[in-house]
Amino acid sequence: MELHGQGVSSGIAVGEALLVERKAIAVLRLLLPQDELEGEVGRLRSAVEASRQQLQAIKERLARQAGSPHGYIFEAQLLMLEDPLLLDRTIAVIREEHVNAAWALRTVAERLQALFEEFSDSYLKERRTDLDDVLGRIQLNLAGAPGAHSLSRLPRPHVLVADEIPPSEAAELDWDNVLAVITDAGSATSHTAILARSRGVPAVVGLHDATRRIPAGALVVVDGERGRVEVDPSKPALAGYRAAQERDRAEEERLRGTRSLDATTRDGVTVRLLANAEFPEEASTAALYGAEGIGLFRSEYLLGRSLAWPSEDRQVELYRGLLRAVPPFPVTVRTWDVGREDLAPGGPSSANPALGERALRLLTRDPAPFLTQVRALLRAAVHGPIRMMFPFVGGPRDMRLARELVARAAYELSREGLAFRPVPIGVTIELPSAALTVDLLAREADFFSVGTNDLIQYLLAVDRTDPRLAPHYEPLHPAVLRALKRIVDAAGSAGRPLSVCGEMAANPLHALLLIGLGVHELSMSPAAIPRVKAVLRGATAASARSAAEACLGMATSAEIEDHLRRALGLALGAGVVVPS
Ligand code: PEP
Ligand code: MG
Repeated sequence: MELHGQGVSSGIAVGEALLVERKAIAVLRLLLPQDELEGEVGRLRSAVEASRQQLQAIKERLARQAGSPHGYIFEAQLLMLEDPLLLDRTIAVIREEHVNAAWALRTVAERLQALFEEFSDSYLKERRTDLDDVLGRIQLNLAGAPGAHSLSRLPRPHVLVADEIPPSEAAELDWDNVLAVITDAGSATSHTAILARSRGVPAVVGLHDATRRIPAGALVVVDGERGRVEVDPSKPALAGYRAAQERDRAEEERLRGTRSLDATTRDGVTVRLLANAEFPEEASTAALYGAEGIGLFRSEYLLGRSLAWPSEDRQVELYRGLLRAVPPFPVTVRTWDVGREDLAPGGPSSANPALGERALRLLTRDPAPFLTQVRALLRAAVHGPIRMMFPFVGGPRDMRLARELVARAAYELSREGLAFRPVPIGVTIELPSAALTVDLLAREADFFSVGTNDLIQYLLAVDRTDPRLAPHYEPLHPAVLRALKRIVDAAGSAGRPLSVCGEMAANPLHALLLIGLGVHELSMSPAAIPRVKAVLRGATAASARSAAEACLGMATSAEIEDHLRRALGLALGAGVVVPS
């Protein structure tokens, strides 16, 4: 069986499928070897026993509260726990289907829930709520038990098959045991895709129903370049994939060898290539790929699944760690780019979160985490060249707010006698309103970085997370080119440095266009650096400039892409195809 989606992180992976289903908590579906089954049975028994003790304690507490009529509810739940329909059947599923306890419980739960649905008696029907409550409790006890399998602790390398992976879970994923990621939802600029690329893990998204079609434990081949997933491939096909995997590895080795070379075009224009990073550990990978610093550190990933803001001292240490990994180069930390929905999943949020309360807009709600972060950045600057960048800026008024925040942090630090240094303050140009006011923003900001991922989404009114809209998400749309040209020119006239940190920077063809438009600094996932560098070294800035000039007069992204390929492919030498 072959499935087709959008390849968002290149490379080929071959491995066993692990299914993830998320309701209240993520439940993994693992196929286990015979000798691990009794361990799962033991885990299930312990979780049921822990649930029994908790319910008993609740029941007793309620009984002590005179007049409380609710003890009977827990009586019913205790009886359910002891029902052989639940425990014995779940054990049978573990043994017969060779699956983990959490998945076996989920299977039995589905059957029991269906049974309850069939009751005509409304009292019995009502007991469905109790059943869900008991099942949820056992699942939580299973997940919390020592040695439990979870997304942050996978038993061995797998291909992850999920509906989607929210950023908080992706941040804590046991990436060392993830061979590839494939998801039903997602798009090229969704955060799962960005993380997979930064980890060098092949990924295909937008598969719609992969979680229903791929059986747990099936052998899966993921081709992240072509967006193809093959389930249970034939022997010859598998051999072909393995050979391609080897070729990729050799090519990767060769490209990494360009680490110490400059990204200089044949006519002598040097472009600075920096790394985007989501996790502190990635900073060393950045150095490995020859990045001249970190151009974008997405600090909100520090929140992780606990959604707790790290303390000021902890942040100072983390930012210092980033500086230590890439000396003497600068590190640009983007301040928290979070929405209300990220901070309180399931809580009240805007109907359209991408247009809602996020980043600086949350300042009035609770300035504390923002102030703490700015203080930590100013303190970390004592140890090296830190730059602070504000995301989701709508115009000069937002930047004034940001500047006030920084001034307040500096004032507090000096009053407290803590060492700090002023840092350059930048703006991510990612809202059309910011793109149109770069000249005004230049009065408030020291540097700019263009976030093309969001700029394209907002300029074209295309939800970047919706796979159905992928054909409408056009980085080469004439409006995008014109906006970029305007931004670059305005920053140049104001004498402010500018880089591009969105995914366009990582696409060699788009990178050449950006150089042609006058950009001299690009920031991308570390693994993309060697390929972009190789293409830049083979091209001339003059040909990129004339190609960009011609493209600015064209009407569709197809024409623009075609022109770029021909003009720049020719400039690179006969027969060279610019990879996208
Ligand atoms: C962008 O919007 O281009 C960007 C770099 O940030 P993110 O992808 O995290 O929104
Ligand atoms: Mg953005």
